[in-house]
Amino acid sequence: MPIYEFRCKSCGERFEKLCPLGETGENISCPACGAPKPDKLISFFATRGVEGGQGAACATCKTTTSCAT
Ligand SMILES: [Zn+2]
Repeated sequence: MPIYEFRCKSCGERFEKLCPLGETGENISCPACGAPKPDKLISFFATRGVEGGQGAACATCKTTTSCAT
């Protein structure tokens, strides 16, 4: 599962969270003040894919091709 970094729109708190693929922050709330829908800053999963060009191996199925988990 990819790790996303979020920033709270209300208090500016930045935090990382493991989220299901495709999570947009709709269901996330700030751990500091509880405000919903923080801004999504970075997906480490996606960043790694861009830099490496091949994506990261899936921890579950060990493949690098279009694994949905
Ligand atoms: Zn907050």
